[in-house]
Amino acid sequence: MAAFTTRRSQLQWLALLAVAVVLPTVSLLWFMSRVIANERLVVRQKLTALYQDKLIDASAKTESLFAARLASLDKIKPAANPYALFRRLVLEENCQGVVVWDVDGSAVYPQLVDVAGSDTPTGSLLAEARQQEFARKQYAEAAQLYHQLSTDSDPRVAVTAIVGWSRCLSRLGRPEEAIDECQKAAFAVPPDREDAAWRLAVENARLLLLSLLKQAGPSPSHSEILHRTVNALGNDLYHPAGDRALLPADQNLFIAKKVLEALRNSNAAEDAKTRDKLEKLAAAEELSIAAAEKLRPLTGQFDGFFETDLDPKPVYGLRHRSPSSTLLVLLSGTGITPALSGYHDAFAGSESAYRILDAAGNFAAGTPQPEGKSFTTADLPAAFPGWKVELYFIGGDVFEKAANRQIAVYVWTGILVIVLILIAGGFATQAIGKQIRLNRMKNDFIATVSHELKTPLASMRLLVDTLLEGNVRDEAQAKEYLRLTVKENERLSRMIENFPTFSRMERNKMAFTIVDTKPAAIASDAIESVKTKFAAHNCHLAVDIADDLPEIQADHDAIVTVLVNLLDNACKYTTDDKRVSLRIFPDDGFVCFVVSDNGIGLARRHLRKIFDRFYQVDSSLARKAEGCGLGLSIVKFIVDAHKGKITVESKPGRGSAFTVRLPVGRKNGD
Ligand code: ADP
Repeated sequence: MAAFTTRRSQLQWLALLAVAVVLPTVSLLWFMSRVIANERLVVRQKLTALYQDKLIDASAKTESLFAARLASLDKIKPAANPYALFRRLVLEENCQGVVVWDVDGSAVYPQLVDVAGSDTPTGSLLAEARQQEFARKQYAEAAQLYHQLSTDSDPRVAVTAIVGWSRCLSRLGRPEEAIDECQKAAFAVPPDREDAAWRLAVENARLLLLSLLKQAGPSPSHSEILHRTVNALGNDLYHPAGDRALLPADQNLFIAKKVLEALRNSNAAEDAKTRDKLEKLAAAEELSIAAAEKLRPLTGQFDGFFETDLDPKPVYGLRHRSPSSTLLVLLSGTGITPALSGYHDAFAGSESAYRILDAAGNFAAGTPQPEGKSFTTADLPAAFPGWKVELYFIGGDVFEKAANRQIAVYVWTGILVIVLILIAGGFATQAIGKQIRLNRMKNDFIATVSHELKTPLASMRLLVDTLLEGNVRDEAQAKEYLRLTVKENERLSRMIENFPTFSRMERNKMAFTIVDTKPAAIASDAIESVKTKFAAHNCHLAVDIADDLPEIQADHDAIVTVLVNLLDNACKYTTDDKRVSLRIFPDDGFVCFVVSDNGIGLARRHLRKIFDRFYQVDSSLARKAEGCGLGLSIVKFIVDAHKGKITVESKPGRGSAFTVRLPVGRKNGD
């Protein structure tokens, strides 16, 4: 019944422990799953808010850039020389074209009309010369007429005549003279009031010179002239000086094409620069011409980018009214990028990519094809009507990543707490287990003790009853019974004497004071204690203690108890010629205490059991001997507590040897 109750209480304890561990763990896991779900939501909200702030910043920056651009357009005075404005916008501000109208909407730039006065008046000598040259192919006559006109007071006529003259000289097979003459026209000194017709005639002379040089073939002097001519053409194109006459746009383009052709094969760094600039300017002029022809100056979107259909690729126009003119600035895809740099600055190096789409949904800036789905979009400022910016996360969903980072922190904390709960549970299990074992031991002990007490009490009662009833033969037998009663009584007393020690020991309360101790001193105290008994039993004790024994780590009194028990047993379990020896010697970090006797010995099957509580070998001598079966279990307990070892070697009828090995002290050991 008692065992059953104990088992039930054990189960109750374990169930309680399981609940104490499992309940908080399950609650924690549930709580963590809720937190994780919430965390995802919170992170999404936080990040979206963060990126929306960035979008607001980028939009503000774009607006201020745009305002600065408008302010700079307001400062432009195109009337002086539109090329100055054209060059600045194209070469410095990355525009791909510009159209300037005056306040009434008349085109100021690009110049689309023909140059006034460039036609040859009919009936003039120049017309006659042209007739001879082109219609009749009379080059000699034509050359003569041109020669006459080459000193004409009208600088345009003079230059045109020189050009015709050198053309005819070339036809007449006199290329060198043709080149010489043509140079005079190509590098003619500008008249006081330069007009477009004169400028056009000079540029024509230069173009003729280029073709004459090409026909004549290469020579050092020719290449020098060629270089000069190309430079002169290139420098005059889009010249920003205020006193320059403007050429029609298509003339400019024609000249630009020729210059680019001439420079195409040059490797000189300066030529490459000129080529680069001219290419940009020519392309811009071409786009500007198309815009001037197609787009109306005074109606449509103002101060905001709109998409033109000037080119298959997107070209954005920006109309702006300044106090003196109406401007149309043209920007291609690359040209618009600086205007959107606010977005680049806000999102470069972040975990997100942006993509800006114009009103028609064309890609305008950012990452052309970002991965995944955009997580937020916004409108661009008013200057970009209908434009949108989309935000994407680079390399997967950042919401998920950020949430996962936070979740990892929670999970690890949760795991840590669970581990701590489990460790605490483990400790509690151990403590409870120990308590349960102790209880069981106590119960066993009480059961064993009551059982062991019964035997001497029963035999005493039997002896005393016999005496009382007078069932004795003589006085000698009565004395014998009384002697036996005394012996049983002594056994009972010894048992009872041992109980407290044993009980204390069982409860682990026997605290040993383990210090460095001299083995010889232990031996001498033990011998002292058994001396009288040995003498009384005529037991011979041989002692052999090695010199220079190291100190051992031991509780002096406890080891004395060990030796006294072993010596006592050795004396008890020997018959007539009692010879007991005690040897003490060092052995590899230990000190060995060997107690041997020439007594009854032990059968193999008993060797292990003799260290159990109350175990006694059932032999006639063992029965006769005083003892209660607790001695060796106490010995083993003490030796174990010293981290030592006890072994026994024995042969029935030959004797036994008990060896106790104890570790040497710190001073001597390692
Ligand atoms: P006890 O009080 O009976 O001596 P111990 O625990 O000291 O109890 O010993 C247990 C049993 O081991 C003894 O009953 C005895 O049978 C056996 N024993 C102990 N020491 C010796 C020995 N030196 N020679 C033979 N048997 C021994």
